[in-house]
Amino acid sequence: MFKEIVKPRKPAVNWDKIKLLAFDCDGVLTQGGIIYGNEGQELKDFDARDGLGFMMLRSTDIQTAVITGRTSEALARRCQDLKIDHVYQKIPYKLKLAEELLKKLGLGFENMLFMGDDWNDFPLMKAVAVSVCPADAAAGIPQLVDYVTQAKGGEGAVRECIEMVLKKKGIYEQAIQAYLARIS
Ligand SMILES: [Mg+2]
Repeated sequence: MFKEIVKPRKPAVNWDKIKLLAFDCDGVLTQGGIIYGNEGQELKDFDARDGLGFMMLRSTDIQTAVITGRTSEALARRCQDLKIDHVYQKIPYKLKLAEELLKKLGLGFENMLFMGDDWNDFPLMKAVAVSVCPADAAAGIPQLVDYVTQAKGGEGAVRECIEMVLKKKGIYEQAIQAYLARIS
C-alpha cells in the first residue's frame, strides 16, 4: 500500500475535490527506459496493470492527463488505447501547461493530483493539491511529495496511485463493480 508522508504546512486534502489525475510518462508510466528504434522512433514498455487502473476510472467523474517532456508515437498510441482525456507531449514547462489545462477545464490546482519522478516535475508537483512519486523516483523527490507508492515506475506505481485516489474518495468498490459490469 501507499506510504503517507504528513506535511504539517499543507492543509488536509479534500479528496472530493480531486477531479484531474495527471501523470508524467518516463519513470512513472514506464520504468524510464527509452528504446531508440532504427527508424528514429522511440519505444516504451508500459504496465498492463496501470492500464486497467485507467479503465477503473471510466465510471467516475475523474479526468486523466499525461504530461511529458519527450515525444513518442508509442505514448500517443498507449494514451489512445487507454482513453486518456488529455495528452501533452514535448512540454518543457509542465506547470505552465497545467495552468492552461486547468483554466480550460474550469478547474484549479486544488482539483489536481500530479505524479512525477524527477526534478522537471517538481514545479508542478509543488503547485497541485496532491503530489505523488513512485518508489524509485530521483533522489530527493520522495521527501518532497505527499505520497510515495510502494511500486516502482512502470511496475504498477500508477495503478497504486489510482487505487489510492479511489479509496480516499470512497468509490473503490464501486469503480471495480462498474468495470466488471462493462466486461461481463
Ligand atoms: Mg519522468
